[in-house]
Amino acid sequence: MNLNRYKFNGKQKVELTAFDTKYTDCFTTSDDVKSIVEENVKEISELQSKLYAEGKTGLLLIFQAMDAAGKDSAIKHVMSGINPQGVNVHSFKQPSSEELAHDYLWRAVKVLPERGKIAIFNRSYYEDVLVVKVHKLYEKLNVPPRCKTADTIKKRYEQIKNFEDYLWENGIITIKFFLHLSKETQRKRFLRRIDNKDKNWKFSDADIRERKFWDDYQEAYQSAIGATATEKNPWYIIPADKKWFSRAIISNILLQTMREIDPQYPVITPEQEAVLEESRRKLTKQE
Ligand code: ATP
Ligand code: MG
Repeated sequence: MNLNRYKFNGKQKVELTAFDTKYTDCFTTSDDVKSIVEENVKEISELQSKLYAEGKTGLLLIFQAMDAAGKDSAIKHVMSGINPQGVNVHSFKQPSSEELAHDYLWRAVKVLPERGKIAIFNRSYYEDVLVVKVHKLYEKLNVPPRCKTADTIKKRYEQIKNFEDYLWENGIITIKFFLHLSKETQRKRFLRRIDNKDKNWKFSDADIRERKFWDDYQEAYQSAIGATATEKNPWYIIPADKKWFSRAIISNILLQTMREIDPQYPVITPEQEAVLEESRRKLTKQE
C-alpha cells in the first residue's frame, strides 16, 4: 500500500470532491487485508511496549469525520492489540458550560498523552474550526468583540498549527485522520441504523439536521486540513465508504508512524546489571 497517497503535509492542494471515497487499492474484500492487519497489530503491539518503556515520545491520534463514517469502529480496531495501560480514548462532545468558560484548547490540553503513551481523540479541538465554523458558533461566545471577528477561524488554524508544533517540540507527535465518506454512503448507513433495532441507539435526528449542511462541512474540512497539515503533524484522508479498507490503511499508517519513532527498550547500566545479577543469585539460592 502506498501511504503517501493519503498523506497531506501542507504542500499539496486538498480537494475533497476529487477524492474517491470508495477507493480500495488492489483489494476487493475484507479477507484480502485480513492477514496484513493481523501482522500490523502484532508489530504495533511490540512497538507500543517499547514506546511505553522508553517513555520519550507521546502519540496523539485524532479522528475526525462526518457522522457514520466509522470513527468508533476504526478506533476499536486501532485499540486491538494495544496494551490498555498505555492508551487513553477521549470523546469530544458539545462543550459544557465549564468548557465554554475556557479557551477552546483547554479541554484537550487536560487529556494530552504523556510521553510513552498514546491518546486517541474521537473528535477534537478541530470541531472548533468545523462545526463552529459551519454554524458560526464563535459569534455566540461570551468573549470580547476582538475575539469573534470574521477571521476568527483563520486565526484558529494558525493557533492549532502552532499548538501541534509546540507539542512536537515537546515530544508529542500528532497524527490526524479524516475518514472521508460519500453522502450516499452516509444515507445508507443512517437507514441501516433506523432499520436495525440494535443500531437504533446510534441514530439521532440531529444527524439528519447536520446532513443538510454537508457541503459546508466539506468546505470546512477542506480548509482546515489544508491549513493545518504539516510534515511533522500530517493529515491523512482515508477513503471511508468501505470500513474494512479504512481500518487497514489506518493500521498501516499507525505502524509506519511508530516505526519512524523507532522506540527502544532502555539500555541498563553496568550498575543495574550488577543489581540484577545479585538478585538472580539470591533468588537461585531461594533466599
Ligand atoms: P456517534 O458516532 O455516537 O454519533 P459522535 O462523535 O457523533 O459519535 P455525538 O454525541 O453524536 O458523538 O456528537 C457530538 C457532537 O458534538 C457532534 O455533533 C460535534 O459536532 C459536537 N461538538 C464537538 N465539539 C464541539 C464544539 N467545540 N462545539 C460545538 N459542538 C461540538
Ligand atoms: Mg453523532
